[in-house]
Amino acid sequence: MRRMNKPLSAADSAAQTPIAAEVERRRTFAIISHPDAGKTTLTEKLLLFGGAINLAGQVKAKRDRRSTRSDWMAIERERGISVVTSVMTFDYDGRVFNLLDTPGHEDFSEDTYRTLTAVDSAVMVIDAAKGIEARTRKLFEVCRLRDIPIVTFINKMDREARDPFDILDEIEKTLALDTTPMTWPIGQGRDFAGTYDIASGEMRLLTDDGRTVDRQPLDLASLAAKNPMLDAEAIAEELKLVKEACRPFDFQAFREGHLTPVFFGSALKNFGVKDLLDALGKLAPPPRAQVANTRKIDAHENAMTAFVFKIQANMDPNHRDRIAFARLCSGKLRRGMKAKLTRTGKPVTLSAPQFFFAQDRSVADEAYAGDVVGIPNHGTLRIGDTFTEGEELAFLGVPNFAPEILRRVKLGDPMKAKKLKEALQQMAEEGVVQVFRPLDGAPALVGVVGPLQLDVLKVRLAEEYGLDIGFDQPEFQLARWIACDDRKKLDEFVSANYSSVAEDLDGDKVFMARNQFILDYTRERAPGLVFNDIKDVK
Ligand code: GDP
Repeated sequence: MRRMNKPLSAADSAAQTPIAAEVERRRTFAIISHPDAGKTTLTEKLLLFGGAINLAGQVKAKRDRRSTRSDWMAIERERGISVVTSVMTFDYDGRVFNLLDTPGHEDFSEDTYRTLTAVDSAVMVIDAAKGIEARTRKLFEVCRLRDIPIVTFINKMDREARDPFDILDEIEKTLALDTTPMTWPIGQGRDFAGTYDIASGEMRLLTDDGRTVDRQPLDLASLAAKNPMLDAEAIAEELKLVKEACRPFDFQAFREGHLTPVFFGSALKNFGVKDLLDALGKLAPPPRAQVANTRKIDAHENAMTAFVFKIQANMDPNHRDRIAFARLCSGKLRRGMKAKLTRTGKPVTLSAPQFFFAQDRSVADEAYAGDVVGIPNHGTLRIGDTFTEGEELAFLGVPNFAPEILRRVKLGDPMKAKKLKEALQQMAEEGVVQVFRPLDGAPALVGVVGPLQLDVLKVRLAEEYGLDIGFDQPEFQLARWIACDDRKKLDEFVSANYSSVAEDLDGDKVFMARNQFILDYTRERAPGLVFNDIKDVK
């Protein structure tokens, strides 16, 4: 009897329950990078290794295509970009990889951040000539909030690159993240010959047609004989230094988000990509336990739980439907099952949950923790919503991020103010923009992290609500959630700064500052109050 009461370890349960076995083979990840570092190229190559082979060419073509199913909105067609995050699922080496695409160029938005709350690991792509760039840093910070393990890919080694030691040093210093090179480049730019595998001491050579070949014993002499630009002695010296000077790989530190294994390669030439994918399979974690308001939910549990991290509207222009993207956290989702939407307590039938295979959508029969399904609905679902099989709980997964751009909504027809209010409420619930209502009754402000979100708002208000709006530059530049353990102190602050305080969708108080100086000044003068740039969903 005692044996039965003993809690199962992960390994025990992996062997014992089919659900655990499915969970263990899943890897749900995103790519974080600055625009042009090579995310699209790498995505395409990653998909080549998996079951989604035929789709590889299409990922790149994303920006050029004009009239396909995924170009669902006029605005998207005009710009030829994907406004929305897509999910790509592929099989490789017995594992199921879910790659959640993080919109990056003009389509950078809060969805980019939210996507990172739905992954278990991330690949950080760095342009070898540029090092850590602004967007990478920002996205890394979001990963760090959740201690998401990061695998680093230093891309474009086939071009003029910075010194590899320099790049590692920059990662360590600017991100406060330890590094362990797993491979090391041999030559660079035109003389990039391949990589040295630090653990095995072997090398992998880049062939003329750009295809990765198997590892082989290190033989610098014959490499140098073929390419006089390569100095065998200097390279041997460097490899020796790498082995001696670099930090050994520490699995636990990686899993806790303190150390990143680093790979060098060229996405364009499909070099080093397989090493990266193998590392994701072997090192990156399977779906992790997720924190809810009442308890932690283990991915191996039998009852289905999931949370919505993104909402996409009008995928099909003929229907006013929305797709809520939900990440499964535990159990098994079966098509047609009834789930409880815990925010309202109402049952929702998951009659047509969809799986996403690259650009295509197909109906899902079952999904497990780590998988992402799309749930069609007519505006009933919100960002952060939780589904269960009846248990009363809410995941804390999807925070709000302070907007980088604030605008005041200008309404063409003032008679439609009430309609605008409703429409903004709906748009905020769907996560299109954040809405801040000043306490002094001034017109609402909208906040976004990427300018395209403003265009999306304008188009959707016109098409779905018949509202013609414009945007004014408000007097405020920054918005911060204010919090204080002492309720009285908070109230005092709010009344003293009445005209600079607004309420967000949930009624939480937000301080709006004209500039950074005012924010710092106010913060200094308000001891005990915190001004947060992130708000976790409660
Ligand atoms: P994204 O903006 O991060 O998605 O970057 P893309 O994948 O679109 O790549 C930006 C540009 O860099 C494109 O012109 C790519 O062809 C090029 N590129 C990407 N990876 C490599 C690489 O490994 N080597 C070289 N030489 N060019 C690359």
